[in-house]
Amino acid sequence: MKKIQRRALLCVGICLFLTFGMIFFLYEYGTKGDRWFIQRYNRHLYSDQQKLLSGTVEDINGVLLSQVQDGSRIFSQDEATRIANLHVVGDAHGNIGTAALSLYADYLISYSALSGAGGITEEGNHLTLTVDSRLNIAAREALEDHAGCVAVYNYKTGEIICLVSTPDYDPEHVPEDLESNPAYNGAYLNRFYSSTFRPGSIMKLITLEAVLSEIPDAETRTYTCTGSLPVGDNIVTCERAHGTMSLADALARSCNCVFADLSVELGGQTLQRYVRKAGLTHSYTLGGVHTAKGSFELATITDYQLGWAGVGLYHDLVNPCSMLIYLGSVAGDGRAALPTTLQKVTADGKLLYEHKPEKTSQLLSAEIAGKLRSYMKNNAATMYDLSRFPTTEIAAKSGTIETKTGKSNCWFAGFLTDSEMPYAFLVYMENAGSGNRVAGSAAAKVLHALYETR
Ligand SMILES: [Zn+2]
Repeated sequence: MKKIQRRALLCVGICLFLTFGMIFFLYEYGTKGDRWFIQRYNRHLYSDQQKLLSGTVEDINGVLLSQVQDGSRIFSQDEATRIANLHVVGDAHGNIGTAALSLYADYLISYSALSGAGGITEEGNHLTLTVDSRLNIAAREALEDHAGCVAVYNYKTGEIICLVSTPDYDPEHVPEDLESNPAYNGAYLNRFYSSTFRPGSIMKLITLEAVLSEIPDAETRTYTCTGSLPVGDNIVTCERAHGTMSLADALARSCNCVFADLSVELGGQTLQRYVRKAGLTHSYTLGGVHTAKGSFELATITDYQLGWAGVGLYHDLVNPCSMLIYLGSVAGDGRAALPTTLQKVTADGKLLYEHKPEKTSQLLSAEIAGKLRSYMKNNAATMYDLSRFPTTEIAAKSGTIETKTGKSNCWFAGFLTDSEMPYAFLVYMENAGSGNRVAGSAAAKVLHALYETR
């Protein structure tokens, strides 16, 4: 009797195990099936050269960027289009993890949990990206072979209309020395999403936000710069004496002494709080991309270090994507749409996916955002030679970071103040020169291309 009881219990145990196992499998299949489906070991979806063999990618205007033909994944016939769009489209081998061919592989293959891989065609699904491939060509030319990135996005809808990262390469003719030649260092990375850089003077925007919020008389004070200022146990310097000025002048002239002094007055913990609230230490999740977190060490440093950190040096590191979102939120009363590169997915004319704007939390108050806009507009009007640009409706801040090579890394970051053109933009270039002169001129070229295509 005992033996039968033991066997019955064993049977019940096995049944329970199988039942729970089946439930677990169905749950995993339902929630993660699409990820499993596009793995490389599903060889029938890929060629022997590991190329994803289904799906078509177009830009926002229907310009074909990648398709599958006769069993091979191919790219635009135009070399400039192929290279300038590399980091949004990807290469045939899926080496660029933040590009469409990797990120949206499940959309390309028309995966269905019920029918699985059945009925796969070369044409596959149609992905329409938000980028304008012509703008990317203009942006890549504007970078003039410097390592860096350019991004322009609609801060109301989140659509990234321009996104270029360099160094890059031609996905149809992958260089043999791609892995060994230092000139291609980081070519698989989209610097906009995945890298962090010294912000330099574009950090003064966040310091200014904190000053306007925390120091009531900051706007009525008069400031004086003699070219150097004792801060803590050392001296903070400017490239020259900026003289007597208002707070708006101090931002436009990008005075280190004034902003270092104000940073110490604010205190490291306060400035750290504003950096965090601005989203600059946050990793955004954007359709499968996890952006790199910026890093700001402000709370436990000396006054001298805080002085330099408040002007974007010391150990500050910012991610370009989170900076662009912050710029969008300054333009948009404290909130901005989260960026995307995917507009829609269709199969045989049927809409499978369409982008819907999703907004950030309130990154700064609407009132302070309004003040920052006028300060940034004053920068552009007084310092940035607006004759280079296609419009005077510009608000911006430049940044220049000296390097050991003798050529500076530089930024030009801002947005258009024309309500018909709700775009924020950012240019970052390495070993290139001054933020205003070099990155500013690159931004002007991209904005000219934007106005020509609109
Ligand atoms: Zn100064």
